[in-house]
Amino acid sequence: MRGSFDDAPLTALFPLSTTADADSLNQAVRTVDAACVGRDTADWEWFPEHAAFPGAWLGTPVVLGADVIQHADGVDQLEFLLQVVWTEAGQLAVDAAVNVACWCDTDHATHDVDAIRLEIGNDTSLPEAFRAGVERLTSWLAAPHNADYWRARAGLPPR
Ligand SMILES: [Zn+2]
Repeated sequence: MRGSFDDAPLTALFPLSTTADADSLNQAVRTVDAACVGRDTADWEWFPEHAAFPGAWLGTPVVLGADVIQHADGVDQLEFLLQVVWTEAGQLAVDAAVNVACWCDTDHATHDVDAIRLEIGNDTSLPEAFRAGVERLTSWLAAPHNADYWRARAGLPPR
């Protein structure tokens, strides 16, 4: 299902979370919206069927995620992603990534030019990992929204 973050059924997606956790996630998302001022707010997507770990054979199933900036004109591509996923070990994690189209001599299709994974467990709660992912995302959003800028930063050939 897709919609604004306010529409996401957080307690159904994260059955172990508390109201305070949901408030914390909501607050973190406000800072993403603030970083997107003048543009559309993030478009969120969620998968209630992944609220419980569906198994490792699905790769990294997404529970909740957003393409905050997605520019794809059929030739070039730039994406800023934030996702809550299940790792293959059946642990929740927050993934954040900047993804661009590849212009190398060998076609790799796309590259994650920057990415972090924050695993949720005994030491890190969902709100803590989510907030850290959001902080990284908002710092990326302060940089140019230009795929060549990100390719140059990663030492990849320009378009
Ligand atoms: Zn490449």
